[in-house]
Amino acid sequence: MSFKALNLSEPVLRGVQAAGYADPTPIQLRAIPLVLAGGDVIGSAQTGTGKTAAFALPILTRLGAHGKTRVLVLEPTRELAAQVETAFHDFARFTELRTVAIFGGVGYGNQRSEMRRGVDIIVATPGRLMDYLKEGTLNLRDINTLVLDEVDRMLDMGFLPVVKDIIGRCPRDRQTLFFSATVPPEIQAIASFALRNPTRIEIGVSRTVCESVTHALYPVAHDQKFDLLLALLAKTDFDSVLIFSRTKHGADKIARRLKAANHSVAVLHANRSQNQRIEALAGFKSGKYEVMVATDIAARGIDVAGVSHVINYDVPEKPEDYVHRIGRTGRAQAVGDAFTLVTPENAGDIRDIQRFIGTKIPELKLEGFPYAPFLPRPERPPEQRESRRGAAQHPRDENRRGGWNRFGGRGRR
Ligand code: AMP
Repeated sequence: MSFKALNLSEPVLRGVQAAGYADPTPIQLRAIPLVLAGGDVIGSAQTGTGKTAAFALPILTRLGAHGKTRVLVLEPTRELAAQVETAFHDFARFTELRTVAIFGGVGYGNQRSEMRRGVDIIVATPGRLMDYLKEGTLNLRDINTLVLDEVDRMLDMGFLPVVKDIIGRCPRDRQTLFFSATVPPEIQAIASFALRNPTRIEIGVSRTVCESVTHALYPVAHDQKFDLLLALLAKTDFDSVLIFSRTKHGADKIARRLKAANHSVAVLHANRSQNQRIEALAGFKSGKYEVMVATDIAARGIDVAGVSHVINYDVPEKPEDYVHRIGRTGRAQAVGDAFTLVTPENAGDIRDIQRFIGTKIPELKLEGFPYAPFLPRPERPPEQRESRRGAAQHPRDENRRGGWNRFGGRGRR
């Protein structure tokens, strides 16, 4: 089925053509008719499935001519807000519709003047939007379509109270579209609060990683992680690599050490200024940087075509983050590899991830890498083995029981 058969308006169809999309993706085929019909939708879809166009195209078609501010799209991060606003703007290039991106970390001046000129569509992060609502620069009384995108991440970031407040400021009589990679009970609760008789669409299985991604675990001792990273980069034929760190400090440190090893590196995390973040992302997209080191929140949903490899320097804290990270490669069917460095302490997290995605991730050893043996577990004196006091004196022994031994072979020793 082509885009033409989906009842999109003429100028929107031209926008799609200009974007170079030939055929709709599965989520677009399912969502576009539902959104055009005005109903509420809960969509769970992997990143990279074409979710943005799935809601943007029918929304633009329904809007028709330029008028009041009728559409609000909430996004968890600045990068996503910028990216989704750009998509709306591009698809709307043959219409008179106006869009604005509202997010923090940049001045208020330009955003205020855009709003004063009159916009049809606002794509915003909750915090900055709330600033404008509180000061009265903006109200939501004409909103007839509300999109809550990446809701799971929005809640992870502590946006629940402000998101509820924003929903409460929109007219009750509206269309609400709700997208979340996963829909656990707490997210279902917001959906019940925000939506009316929604139609559920699930594209792919939200728990699986893209089929085009081949993934592998690389067990390694903690103090050899960085050396293994360097060795993997040296031995892998990559175009561009996204490296994930759990912490901002860790991301900076990895970037510093990679630079010292002559890699061109960008860093993306929440402590960087908005301009630094924009420069990092643009440089990575253009190929100026071959490597980008990022934290989960900063990298959520960013769309960088051609990421050939994702390396999890740190195992993600939550199983669903594994799927999101891996979703960076393999977007829109390109092929990518995803490597995860695993230390003995990560055994539990890896079990959770494998359970979550429903498959076992193969373990690999990098040929020629001078692996140090993991340190043998210190023997406990026999009198402490059954004693609670003894266990308390050796808490890590308890954690290690049934944990990893050399190169990831699991089991009690
Ligand atoms: P999204 O899931 O919306 O972030 O989209 C992921 C990527 O797929 C983006 O680079 C889109 O530009 C691209 N994309 C979305 N829909 C299509 C389509 N129908 N044909 C080709 N590429 C698409």
